[in-house]
Amino acid sequence: MPGIPNSSSVSTTSAGRRPTAAQPNAAHRALARLAGHAELVLITQNVDDLHERGGSTGVIHMHGALNNALCAACGQRWPAPAVMAATDPCPACARTATRPDIVWFGEIPYRMDEIWQAVEQADVFAAIGTSGQVYPAAGLAQHARRKGVHTVGWNLATSAVSRDFAERIEGPATKIVPEWVDSLIAAS
Ligand SMILES: [Zn+2]
Repeated sequence: MPGIPNSSSVSTTSAGRRPTAAQPNAAHRALARLAGHAELVLITQNVDDLHERGGSTGVIHMHGALNNALCAACGQRWPAPAVMAATDPCPACARTATRPDIVWFGEIPYRMDEIWQAVEQADVFAAIGTSGQVYPAAGLAQHARRKGVHTVGWNLATSAVSRDFAERIEGPATKIVPEWVDSLIAAS
């Protein structure tokens, strides 16, 4: 919220990660630690549950969650069985319109109103590993900057959206994110 120091919104992405094999890393755990010291809105494009397994709660999964099933008829979500089928009946409405709770290409990402608002009300907007290729996620940094929010971009290398960040930090997320979180906590 405006005026509250150290309020941050963070968006993360990492294409190509295999959710079943991956484990939370130092960056996931650092962000969970930050939530104990700042008002943190954690927005991810990832459909895995690595942030949750790293200790974060209330994560906004703008592209959905691999571990959920979604009823296309009534919008009910429930923990996905290992194998789900369109013919599985919805636990809420009993209709058979089950689909993975995943945002496909061409569909609008989830909770965008809430996301735009969180971004423009933050003191700091930090984006981890965004390619700058997938909209509307790529537009968040630009939006934050226009609203006068301090923007931080972490990447392995200069990205297509680098110009939208006031501060750019290059390096592996597992190193630079914990360092950044530690510096924020030390300053709080
Ligand atoms: Zn239903």
